[in-house]
Amino acid sequence: MGNPRNHSFNKFKMKNPKYVFLIIVPLTLMISSWGFLAHKTLQQVSIYALPDPLGAYFYANQDYLVNQSIRPDVRRNEDKTEDVKHYLDMDAAIFGPNYTKDIPHEFSAAVAKYGLDSLRKEGLVPWEVVRVYGRLVNAFKREMKDSVLFYAADLGHYVADAHVPLHTTKNHDGQLTGQKGLHALWESLVPEEQLSQYNLATYQAKPLVYISKPQDFIFEILLESHAMLPELFQVEKEVTLAMGADKKHMQVVRNGRTLNYYTKEFIQAYGNKLGAKVQDRMLVSAHRVASFWYSAYKDAGSPAWVNHDTKISQELKGAFQAEKKAWLANTLISDKLLISVKNKKAE
Ligand SMILES: [Zn+2]
Repeated sequence: MGNPRNHSFNKFKMKNPKYVFLIIVPLTLMISSWGFLAHKTLQQVSIYALPDPLGAYFYANQDYLVNQSIRPDVRRNEDKTEDVKHYLDMDAAIFGPNYTKDIPHEFSAAVAKYGLDSLRKEGLVPWEVVRVYGRLVNAFKREMKDSVLFYAADLGHYVADAHVPLHTTKNHDGQLTGQKGLHALWESLVPEEQLSQYNLATYQAKPLVYISKPQDFIFEILLESHAMLPELFQVEKEVTLAMGADKKHMQVVRNGRTLNYYTKEFIQAYGNKLGAKVQDRMLVSAHRVASFWYSAYKDAGSPAWVNHDTKISQELKGAFQAEKKAWLANTLISDKLLISVKNKKAE
């Protein structure tokens, strides 16, 4: 989410095409949800959590599912209706003081209560998850293979976004409490700084769940995310105080514009003080993405075509087992199997 509601970037891009690369680098960090590295990493981990035959089928399409995990964020540059699908500002005035209980989970009931225009303003992520989930079930049933992969990639993105605390509040960038920039700090900069220390198999022993009511489960997730907010704001204040505001930012001039970046020292201090919070949130998202995929497959009647797909060979099954072992041993990065990191280095 970040500062997606600021569309000045698009205007700039159109007028100054030759500067696109310079500007995209910092802004991507600011506007992407979870950050591209985190989205790709967690989507890859989700595949390892799946039982066969769905696991083997998704593994056969691993590159697509991982690399397209960021597509909904990329889409925001061109599609103005996309932005609101990535968050729900639960504490917006329209939802009232008892918003944790009062927001209807059914889309039609929510529209009847608040009006579609209001929902389009405050966010749609839970209902987008449910919509895309329905599309995925349908694609599984009809053996629409391209659509299965398309909707699975999108669903993974939106489910993961619902796990980001700052996707559930009006104070989405800390802008209301003098903590502007917090969004990218929490969801992009900290994971990018700390990924190599993460245990990507944190939830390996947690059994996948069949989600009988996606619309209720996604609200549970949003409430969990929302409950994490006070600590996330408080820790930022404490680290700023301990370090001194002058060490928090550094200024970088790009193309005549002065941009404020967090210092590496501040990113590390903030991440360290949060402990394993960001890692755990990222990896529990991966586990839930797998659960959503698995449930959609089940709701479609566990279609036999998945098991007989021509892409699933003995060789592929062997490779999948080997990668799962690397995941369980948390050696994906050192074994150069993590697609997000491989891509990053190749860029
Ligand atoms: Zn997003």
